[in-house]
Amino acid sequence: MRLSKYFLPTLRENPADAEVVSHKLMMRAGMIRKVAAGIYDYLPMGLIVIRKVENIIRKYMNEAGAIEVLMPAVVPAELWKESGRWNVYGKELLRFKDRHDRDFCMGPTHEEVVTDIVRNEVKSYKDLPINLYQIQTKFRDEVRPRFGLMRGREFIMKDAYSFDTTDEGAEKSYRDMRDAYCKIFKACGLKYKVVEADSGAIGGNFSHEFMVTAETGEDFVISCDSCDYAANIEKAPVIDVWQEEDEPLKSVERVETKNMKTVTDVANYLGVPEKKVVKTMILRAGNDDIIAVMIRGDHELNMAKIKNFLNVPYVEFATPEEILKSTNGPLGYSGPIGINVKIFADNALKGMKNYVVGGNEKDIHLLNVNHGRDFSIVAFSDFINAKPGNTCPKCGGKYVITKGIEVGHIFKLGTKYSKSMKAIYLDKDGKQQYIVMGCYGIGVGRTAAAAIEQNHDEKGIIWPIQMAPFEVAILPLNDDNEDVVNLAETLYIKLQKKGVEVILDDRKERAGVKFNDAELVGYPIRVNIGKKTLENGEVEIIIRKTGEKISCKKDDALSKILEIREKLYNED
Ligand code: ATP
Ligand code: MG
Repeated sequence: MRLSKYFLPTLRENPADAEVVSHKLMMRAGMIRKVAAGIYDYLPMGLIVIRKVENIIRKYMNEAGAIEVLMPAVVPAELWKESGRWNVYGKELLRFKDRHDRDFCMGPTHEEVVTDIVRNEVKSYKDLPINLYQIQTKFRDEVRPRFGLMRGREFIMKDAYSFDTTDEGAEKSYRDMRDAYCKIFKACGLKYKVVEADSGAIGGNFSHEFMVTAETGEDFVISCDSCDYAANIEKAPVIDVWQEEDEPLKSVERVETKNMKTVTDVANYLGVPEKKVVKTMILRAGNDDIIAVMIRGDHELNMAKIKNFLNVPYVEFATPEEILKSTNGPLGYSGPIGINVKIFADNALKGMKNYVVGGNEKDIHLLNVNHGRDFSIVAFSDFINAKPGNTCPKCGGKYVITKGIEVGHIFKLGTKYSKSMKAIYLDKDGKQQYIVMGCYGIGVGRTAAAAIEQNHDEKGIIWPIQMAPFEVAILPLNDDNEDVVNLAETLYIKLQKKGVEVILDDRKERAGVKFNDAELVGYPIRVNIGKKTLENGEVEIIIRKTGEKISCKKDDALSKILEIREKLYNED
């Protein structure tokens, strides 16, 4: 490709609305442009990267025996009503009507559509197992679309669905996908972790996320400092917070805590440690049930754990009106005494005595409160986020915490959809059985963005060669010098003949401009051809990743570039 005839609109400045590096650099390197919140154009360089990620995914999915299909982005409501998700999916599902007043949605994920294909076409155990996948544009009306392609509303996803006759078969399909994902992210040149994920109401350890480690990740990954245990914070159990306190029970005291907004304020004012101040959170759990969950002041509430414990589709904070109705008090002062909702408590409260709670009255807290004596707890369980230093459930080591970007998610579905949508096969004895399913997603754009989060410097992107828009850039630095221009042209043609993806910066621009753009876009290998070095018969090859500069005889340039390229592909 000749840059003079290409479309690469780079920007000098970071766009004002870009918070993370990948968003800034994708905009500046002319890869994407915003059309509306969370909706982007893919410009040529961006599209090449996206297609490369797709092809890597395709290669390993095919190798694992999955078969590519393409389902519609627009999905009729009937299918979603059959599965029961039409009414529970919430506002992320973009719904609309056609001219005949029929309901449709933009597919955010395709369990319903694929289950419909399989139930119509698959009859017998002989037709199974089967794994169908697609690479397709999804739409989710995210509350906070941000970070460019990382959390868009319209985005490209690879989604695969496996169909098996038995649970064991489904587990094998799951393991095959897990292995394929490892190959995919390795082939993308990414550093990633496979972590246990929250598997919702289905239970078991049958959900894993693939996390690319990066400071800007929105997910917290808990891992063990001594073994290979790793889990999303939503999932990582806390097993070591319970402690029996040995104090005589004291009488409840009512204290005024004017203008104390936080646990720290209250603890300091009352002269007690933060862990003695217990927070009472009023929540709405599925089916409009209002409940209270109590946790220690120095702990964080974990909604996923509460949702799983109660086996409800969602849990949300109650509104101030709901809080007033159920506690008779304002938001921020809820406590367990005298309220008419079920009270659940985190395990850490089990052995606690004489603690501080909200008084269900503005500016009032209660001291020396004790469960059992002053109020009742329906059940104790693990309702909090793990912290660094907590004990690993697998080996007794200590938890550490890192941030990650979830690029892939694999999930054993069981018969959730085959039951609701009647996806049945006939077994060897001619008996009807439900098909056992799994689903597996990879965010294509998010994977490209994650690669940038992991590989960049102050000058721009440092593409892993597997994803780079072009492997090699040739920069003729003096376009008025015939030798320079001729050598650049010859090398460009020779590299193309060798199958190298090469871009020739033949624009009439100063060397500085060409350097900056090349570093911004992040081509893995750059060749500077300037009249000064050429007087000695030499060119300069620069490896973006290491910054290494290699002077090389012009006749050796081709073989040297091929050698470096080979090496970059084979590095970990
Ligand atoms: P998140 O928790 O980040 O919202 P999710 O759990 O909703 O992700 P899945 O439903 O498992 O995501 O979707 C499969 C994959 O699709 C994710 O692992 C991620 O890579 C990608 N993905 C999900 N939502 C988005 C989005 N809004 N923008 C870009 N990619 C996304
Ligand atoms: Mg999501």
